[in-house]
Amino acid sequence: MTGENYGFRDAHFAKQIVQKIKNLTVKNDKVKICHVCGTHEWTITHYGLRSLLPPEIEVIAGPGCPVCVVPAAEIDQALQLAQRGISITCFGDVLRVPGSESSLLDAKANGADVRIVYAVSDAIEMARREPKKQFAFFAVGFETTAPSTAIETLENPPKNFSFLASHRLIPPAMEMLLSVEDLKVNGFIAPGHVSAIIGLKPYEVFPKKYKMPTVIAGFEPNDVLMSIYMLIQQVSQNKAQLENEYTRVVKPEGNPKALEAMTRAFEVSAGNWRGMGKLEKSALLLKEKYANFDARIKFDIQNSEGKDIPQNCQCHRVIIGKIKPDQCPMFLKTCTPAKPIGACMVSNEGTCRVWAKTVNQ
Ligand code: SF4
Repeated sequence: MTGENYGFRDAHFAKQIVQKIKNLTVKNDKVKICHVCGTHEWTITHYGLRSLLPPEIEVIAGPGCPVCVVPAAEIDQALQLAQRGISITCFGDVLRVPGSESSLLDAKANGADVRIVYAVSDAIEMARREPKKQFAFFAVGFETTAPSTAIETLENPPKNFSFLASHRLIPPAMEMLLSVEDLKVNGFIAPGHVSAIIGLKPYEVFPKKYKMPTVIAGFEPNDVLMSIYMLIQQVSQNKAQLENEYTRVVKPEGNPKALEAMTRAFEVSAGNWRGMGKLEKSALLLKEKYANFDARIKFDIQNSEGKDIPQNCQCHRVIIGKIKPDQCPMFLKTCTPAKPIGACMVSNEGTCRVWAKTVNQ
């Protein structure tokens, strides 16, 4: 996890950015920067970017893994569907995420029809090929995957197909972090891919209302280093602005077509996040007129309390950046990528798994 050798493209440029960061850093003046993206955590950890920064600058990982934040109660709902003989289709990452008592992988091992797909359209194609079976797509993810759920909903999927929608929105989670006692974030790195969809407007609240410097960043090591530099610059000048480091991809207006599809298909609602509780205006549910494609309504699925965090697992603290994965006593002891206990060790975007994979390299 050390980046001393700058083992990535444009190392010369990276050294210059790091030097600029060092020049702006005031000795013993701590600055805590929070990102909310599994891919950012991978870049930071894989390239050892934390080790390049002065000790005053801490970069923490917030709730950026779409699979990790799915509450156990919603995994339980997918399991209810599977138990009733409905074919569950989902992305591979979802399979091992623990529900209250078991996962979709356990259900599959016990004979349920659970199939991995790479796109929603694959799941719809399966439903068309097998019209006598009922299919449900477990639609998980942030603003990056929600548009494809929206578009397929609007295109009138077959009658034997429905969605178990579990999409979540990133800005409300960032807002929630600002209320966490003792976290004391000084700046946000906002995720480039989410921003490519939603544009700049949803982040305006952070500098305006919370006086929080916020920089949208891409995923190359130099994107992340540059965003840190931009944040440190704001902090050193006592400014709070929204800046876009990832201009080559993120447009101020985002992706209007994707946003329009989302507005037509979804209503924004309160939603539970694993280990974080209920956040207002943070979940996307299908609008009433698409109830025929809403698996919860179509199959009268019951909601349960859900048990998000297994005994001794610290995911609820890792997800909000309160602790680092290696501060969990089970990290790489009883909880490993091969045998994950908590949701943060399941997906390649989970902070514990990113750390575990890097340690094991
Ligand atoms: S190491 Fe495992 S048990 Fe510990 S917080 Fe991470 S996922 Fe949970």
